[in-house]
Amino acid sequence: MNRNIQPVIAIHGGSGTIPRGSLTPEVETDYRRVLAEAAGAGEAILRSGGSALDAVAAATIVMEDSPLFNAGKGSVLTSAGRVEMDAAIMDGNGTRAGAVAGLRSIKNPILAARAVMEKSRHVMFTGEGAEAFAVEQGLATMPPGYFIVPRRIQQLEDARSRQALDLDHTPLSPGSLRQQAVAALDPDSKFGTVGAVALDAKGNLAAATTTGGMTNKMPGRIGDSPIIGAGTYAENDVVAVSATGSGEMFMRAVGAYDIAAQMKYGKSAPKPAVDAVLARIGAMGGRGGFIAVDAGGSVTFGFNTDGMYRAYAKSGEPPVIRIFKDE
Ligand code: ASP
Repeated sequence: MNRNIQPVIAIHGGSGTIPRGSLTPEVETDYRRVLAEAAGAGEAILRSGGSALDAVAAATIVMEDSPLFNAGKGSVLTSAGRVEMDAAIMDGNGTRAGAVAGLRSIKNPILAARAVMEKSRHVMFTGEGAEAFAVEQGLATMPPGYFIVPRRIQQLEDARSRQALDLDHTPLSPGSLRQQAVAALDPDSKFGTVGAVALDAKGNLAAATTTGGMTNKMPGRIGDSPIIGAGTYAENDVVAVSATGSGEMFMRAVGAYDIAAQMKYGKSAPKPAVDAVLARIGAMGGRGGFIAVDAGGSVTFGFNTDGMYRAYAKSGEPPVIRIFKDE
């Protein structure tokens, strides 16, 4: 392992239609502040010789605890008006992984995913079993009111009315019907999932992704974020990847692993691999993006939307924050 590599963390807070001017200066400042805090939390761990795994967990916890992002506090709502949160974490060192889906009360789903990886013989837990396991591991729970912020109730109402409109009044071919149905899941076309990828001083890669899923999703629906290889993947000496976007297409594309496979077997550089997978997802009608860090510490951001909340921080350097496409 090359010990001269500079550790690095990259994070995302979702992608979507975020043209310049769509955020008030105050809101934009808030996003930039939390992104800096999250990347900074990961960077501090890497700088002190900590692991990529600890760094991605710390960064995502900052964003789960912020109401600005669709993860933990501030998660979007299902059609039944509840939160169902999904998360996954993967340690490139040994390709160990843990994931949870359908959590309703665990304050930090990423910690539940990590507990699955480190404290169970399994990789993925869902629903009641996932909640029970997390509680058994001593993780904090919160009442529903903690997770649900007013903006999400408004979004759900919009999505509900929009979906009814699409189905009632729009004559659609089968192909476009699928496309419209996915668009209707999230009326403001924002995918607020959060994720982090990191490379540590020992050359270990790690990835984490945590989400409330998509607004107005049917109860029980699980997206790509907790699916190892779709929304989250890490393998030492190859790449760590975290995704955000229309989960159905990211799952069908097995997006995160396809990026790794192109790099591993096709010897592709990260950027062309990310772009190729995004093109395939785009052709399915999917929108969103990926963040990736490779074994040499090179960071890639790719998205087919107008913007992506994103940041990176090299060990010992201040975080670099970006939101808009042209930044
Ligand atoms: N990918 C997530 C999902 O489909 C949504 C998001 O990225 O915001 O559950």
